[in-house]
Amino acid sequence: MALSEFEIIDRYFRSRAPRRRDVIVGIGDDGAVLSVPEGQHLVVSMDTLVCDVHFPASAPARAVGHKALAVNLSDLAAMGAEPAWATLALTLPEADEAWLRGFAEGFFALAESFEVDLVGGDTTRGPLSVTVQVHGFVPPGGAMCRRGARPGDGIFVTGTLGDAALALWLLQKRRRGGVRERAYLLSRLHTPLPRVSVGLALREYASAAIDLSDGLIGDLGHVCRSSGVGASLWVDKLPRSDAFAALADEEEGYRLALVGGDDYELCLTVPPEHQSALKQAAGSLDCRLTRIGIVERESALRCLHDDGTELRIRGGAWQHFRRESDG
Ligand code: ADP
Ligand code: MG
Repeated sequence: MALSEFEIIDRYFRSRAPRRRDVIVGIGDDGAVLSVPEGQHLVVSMDTLVCDVHFPASAPARAVGHKALAVNLSDLAAMGAEPAWATLALTLPEADEAWLRGFAEGFFALAESFEVDLVGGDTTRGPLSVTVQVHGFVPPGGAMCRRGARPGDGIFVTGTLGDAALALWLLQKRRRGGVRERAYLLSRLHTPLPRVSVGLALREYASAAIDLSDGLIGDLGHVCRSSGVGASLWVDKLPRSDAFAALADEEEGYRLALVGGDDYELCLTVPPEHQSALKQAAGSLDCRLTRIGIVERESALRCLHDDGTELRIRGGAWQHFRRESDG
């Protein structure tokens, strides 16, 4: 029997939402009432996943639920914010209970691991699309923004690059690969883990930060434009997972690591005087942190090999609404 909008909300979302003490009124009223801790600033971010644009219709519902929240928490991580609340706008073609169950499982497993409460949303019928808004806190002046990079700052990334893009490439080309490597890469594509604790631990050292959703070149380009600087990237230093090294060929490997999207790692710029403290702080985190370049005065973004030769990459970062004529 088809569920109504209210049955969907009650069964899959209202019943599952745990209660933080700062949620005064949660799901079930015309609006949520939330208590922002005294002396903190509120950071808000929103991202939409559209079926067949951001995930294939065949993607496991659990992965869609996970990823819809993960990409948002990744934005909070990039701001150095501590996550607190989420709202969810869900547009569904039909009330498919198996899909809803999987979606809610993925969403709440991640929400609970970050102590995030779902406090409201909207449920409508239409082509499958998921919008999540997240809310978090930073101390005043504590947020990492895109505009703070200065010439001479080191450029650092968390984790490894290109895994999600390689997974997508393997899926699209129907290429095989080792079973373990493939499973690892697919987990990086479907269930990225937002680097929230890294953002919190390193925010005091960074001059600027961004999370890598659209590819390193494109996203670092945003930091450069906002900051009025350029950058040199050391392409032979880009961190790669073992699975990536095993399955990507050399030239494709550079391209995937530089312009492949969906990594949800953090890219930070750090002034020289903070770099030893940064490394020390990073040592106590369960996360690789790699220096991959330097911020330059001149506004270009260059990709350099260790021997000083320049690497040129076909195709830029992923963009919606890009016209063919843009090249
Ligand atoms: P209204 O018509 O007043 O906008 P709704 O009927 O859309 O209210 O929603 C009823 C309650 O359920 C509200 O508190 C709303 O925030 C919540 N809600 C609706 N859809 C979702 C969802 N997908 N996830 C979480 N909460 C939801
Ligand atoms: Mg409504």
